[in-house]
Amino acid sequence: MMGFTHVGVGIVTTGMIWEAMGLSGYTTLIGAAIGGVGGMLPDIDDCNSILGRQLPILPLVINALRIEHRGFTHTPVCLLIFTAAAYIAAITWNLNIFYAASLCVGYATHILTDAITREGVRLFWPFFKGRIALTGIRTGGIVDYALGAAAYIAIISYIVNSHILQHIRSQISF
Ligand SMILES: [Zn+2]
Repeated sequence: MMGFTHVGVGIVTTGMIWEAMGLSGYTTLIGAAIGGVGGMLPDIDDCNSILGRQLPILPLVINALRIEHRGFTHTPVCLLIFTAAAYIAAITWNLNIFYAASLCVGYATHILTDAITREGVRLFWPFFKGRIALTGIRTGGIVDYALGAAAYIAIISYIVNSHILQHIRSQISF
């Protein structure tokens, strides 16, 4: 999937989970934004990704270590390691556990949405090293764009209807 789709799906999924769990509007909004960042993380293995373009050191590291795009960073094993690290970091530095979890939820949505493209991901690594493609959707194709657009429409309608905006409106109206 394209970077903008990953960010949108990460935001919507994280926001929906926190909303369903009844977290405050503030925690849900911040968590959803962090989920969007988590949705970009696995593509750190791609120099041309949103994060890759922001980190000029990345092409050097990728070339030196011969890191394969959609390799280890796109496996559930890497997600588990990342989740454990995020949990330990949150406990160690006394951070909001929901914000750490938001990164992990976003990360998970990235692996799943790449798994439904025809290029697939290594879902069962290291037991089975081949890539699994759950559907034949093309990255950069019409479904990719439609999924991204749907995510951003959901985000905009949520913000417009959110209690936070209603609160701001009530403060400025006479
Ligand atoms: Zn990816």
